[in-house]
Amino acid sequence: MRGYGAEVSTIGLVLLLLASTMKGQEVSEAVFDRQWGGWRITVAGDRVVVSCHQASLLVLTPFKDTSFRSGQWQGSTVTLRFQGNGGESLWIFGITPNALNLVVQHTLPTPASSTVSWRWVTVNPNLMRGASAPSKEEWIASTIFGSVALSVGGAGAQKTQWRRTEIGWRAELVYPQGVNVLYAQLELRVPPHWLVAEPPRGDAVIHPIDLVQGEFWDLPLLPRPQWWRWGDAPFRLGRQVLVLVANDTFRPAAEHLRAYLQSHWLRQVTLRAWSPDMPLERGIVLAPHRSPLRERAAALEPMLKPDLPPEGYVLTASPEGVWILAADKDGAFWAVQTLKQLLYLTDDGALIVPGIFLRDFPDFPFRGVHIVLDDYSPELHGRLIEQVWAPLKFNKLVMQVDHLKWERHPELWQPWSLPKEAAKELQRRAEANNMEVIPLLPTLSHCEYLFGTVAGRPARTNVDIAEDPDAAYAYCPNLERTYQLVFDLLDEVLTLFNPRFLHIGHDEVLNRGRFGSCIRCQGMPLHQLFAADVQRLSEFLKKRGVGVMMWGDMLLRPDEAFDAAHGGEPHNFWRARTLLPRDIVIVDWHYQPAPRYPSVKVFRKEGFTVIGTTWRNLDNIVGFSQAAKAAGAWGMLQTTWTGFGNNRNALKDFPDQFAAYIVAADQFWSTSASALSRGYSAWSVFETLWRGPTVPPMSGFIVDLSPIANLPLAKLVGASPQHLRGHKRWWNRRLFWLAADEEGTLKAVALRSVWLAGAPEEVRLPIEEPATELTFIHATGFAAPEEAIVGGYELRLEDGETVTVPLYYGRQVRAVTDERPLRDPRASPAWRLTTPKGSIHLTAFTLPLEGERVVRQIRFYAAHEEAMPLLVAVTGVTAKPVVKEAP
Ligand SMILES: [Zn+2]
Repeated sequence: MRGYGAEVSTIGLVLLLLASTMKGQEVSEAVFDRQWGGWRITVAGDRVVVSCHQASLLVLTPFKDTSFRSGQWQGSTVTLRFQGNGGESLWIFGITPNALNLVVQHTLPTPASSTVSWRWVTVNPNLMRGASAPSKEEWIASTIFGSVALSVGGAGAQKTQWRRTEIGWRAELVYPQGVNVLYAQLELRVPPHWLVAEPPRGDAVIHPIDLVQGEFWDLPLLPRPQWWRWGDAPFRLGRQVLVLVANDTFRPAAEHLRAYLQSHWLRQVTLRAWSPDMPLERGIVLAPHRSPLRERAAALEPMLKPDLPPEGYVLTASPEGVWILAADKDGAFWAVQTLKQLLYLTDDGALIVPGIFLRDFPDFPFRGVHIVLDDYSPELHGRLIEQVWAPLKFNKLVMQVDHLKWERHPELWQPWSLPKEAAKELQRRAEANNMEVIPLLPTLSHCEYLFGTVAGRPARTNVDIAEDPDAAYAYCPNLERTYQLVFDLLDEVLTLFNPRFLHIGHDEVLNRGRFGSCIRCQGMPLHQLFAADVQRLSEFLKKRGVGVMMWGDMLLRPDEAFDAAHGGEPHNFWRARTLLPRDIVIVDWHYQPAPRYPSVKVFRKEGFTVIGTTWRNLDNIVGFSQAAKAAGAWGMLQTTWTGFGNNRNALKDFPDQFAAYIVAADQFWSTSASALSRGYSAWSVFETLWRGPTVPPMSGFIVDLSPIANLPLAKLVGASPQHLRGHKRWWNRRLFWLAADEEGTLKAVALRSVWLAGAPEEVRLPIEEPATELTFIHATGFAAPEEAIVGGYELRLEDGETVTVPLYYGRQVRAVTDERPLRDPRASPAWRLTTPKGSIHLTAFTLPLEGERVVRQIRFYAAHEEAMPLLVAVTGVTAKPVVKEAP
């Protein structure tokens, strides 16, 4: 079918427009219609329409209760007569090529008994595009078409009032009481023509594109690498990627990279064993830093030569390949995480790694996250492992396991207890992501889970081993029954996780209840009770070859830390320090920012290995990490105090604890600079990682409309054409090439409109490419009535099927100056482009096809007298590869 308006005559459309815009007005036959020198005067019903160069400019309303009687045309003069109960009028138009004069003399039947108002003239607002609104009798303005002058007044009229109405700017003349004859006068001067379309310079060009859509890392490198500089030329990944692995221990890292390149970037990855004595092919190489490649890398950048600490790696990218030279298995894995952040999609749709020389290693060997498991852990913590923690190079996961479904002790189960197999699966996911799991079973203190006293409920089980049965919180360390239970649980934990370390808790012993008050413990110094318990547990664990970790707060005097120092007077738990085996790792937690963090040194001096531990305060994460590094800590642990049945709502209820992971990861890896000075929002980074990709990777095609674009967009607001530049742009992670000329001026394919001379009725784009979805960047030049069909797309598909999509004003499209929302959910704002004369609004309209279809042709057509459909860019996407790789 042809365009909607194509078969309708011009005058018919003028009337149709007027009819559709003037509510309640009947369309009547034109009773008078004359043209001269580009002007046209039409009388239809009780309206006089003045048009010039096809565009209707003015609608004039005769005085009330009068009707058209006769019209006369003589040379450049038109005379109209109106007559009726309201009196009689004589209208005389004088016409020259660029100007029109109208004088009216209207005689009332009797002198007016009150003031008279005549809503005489309504001006098409499109005529005023680019200029300010009229307010006085004289309006002279520089519009997008050129200079326009309009004066509306009359001898004897008191004033001219302008008002915006639904169909345009209306001038109302007001006359004083007693007047008998109303004189009205109008003068309009217009430019010699409206807009003029440029001739086409060729045909639209269809470009098949390897990746027309995809989501790449557009955040800073996280955690901050220790050293890097950008190189000159990137490495381009074709559709086929070769990954060469020089060492079997690097295979997990290589597999991880392969899975990522396949799922995230649609690459076909070949993994091949390779040794440094074989010729080097173009691709991604994973090799030990101690290999001949190191010399070749060092020849390019000497910083890549020095030996690497554990977990270190160097990474280079150049047109020949990406070389990852790692100190060990961990270094290779972290290098792959960095490579994932470096991959970048160019605006030509090419996947590249920018040229780079990078040397990196962690400042702390231990970079942990602490969590409390509950039944929601698989969803929450499983995703955190894969989306947040491992990508940010955390390598330890301390899992607090109060609430497992213990085999031998079902009396401890809570509704939120996690089945052991689910906890094991979580460990498998952590290990697959290079994170070591360290179980934490609170012992001695914080033993609510042993008594069922969680959430403030009274003890319901194992009360016999509670040190204070009235506040069941600590167990009695002088009771065999205690250790039967605790060793049962430890045994289950060790069997389940087979860990290298286990964390035994032991914090805040005096928080609840009366510790050391039972009949067996009375009289013993509390620090000795404490130490004896630690020793006993430690012996149990050591016999099984498991290292011990414990919280440090009970072992600190208040003068040794600014917070979490609970070992001072009167009970002096700190004295237990001398009684404990030195191979216990002290997990030294401080959650408040402090001017100094002396505690790490205190423990180090006594021969303990120390892990600094932080929570949600970001300044504390930075300050404590730096102090812990200076004092020789093994590492840092970031705690998360959700769990106990509330992990399900944790993201919503405790967002700060999740944002803190980002700063902690950054700071634990690279302690010297503050992560807080890098300028990112921790929460928004967290959200981005947690959410994961929002669009799938897609191949497709881009239509470059530049050769047929015929109108600079800036002209539509009266700005200089150079004010808007056409270039490649992303919308919704999808790539578009906006039409532009050689100078970069942003243009559109503009279709026929009365305001644009020389524009085509339609354009046909020969596509011949498969697509599952098309996105058009479009608009109209001018506003049209809501729901008016302004044009459309007609798609011809492979089997001859035709899909027609009419564009309704207000649903799928609006004018460049109209920023009101669109009613079709497939349409949404793409860009707002600003010029000194106002903004241009472009819409993205996405049209899904039924499955993948070859689109043979797109016809873009006009269907409205004024609207002027504009097309700026077209992109098609398909899930299948469309680019054939050169062999
Ligand atoms: Zn006791």
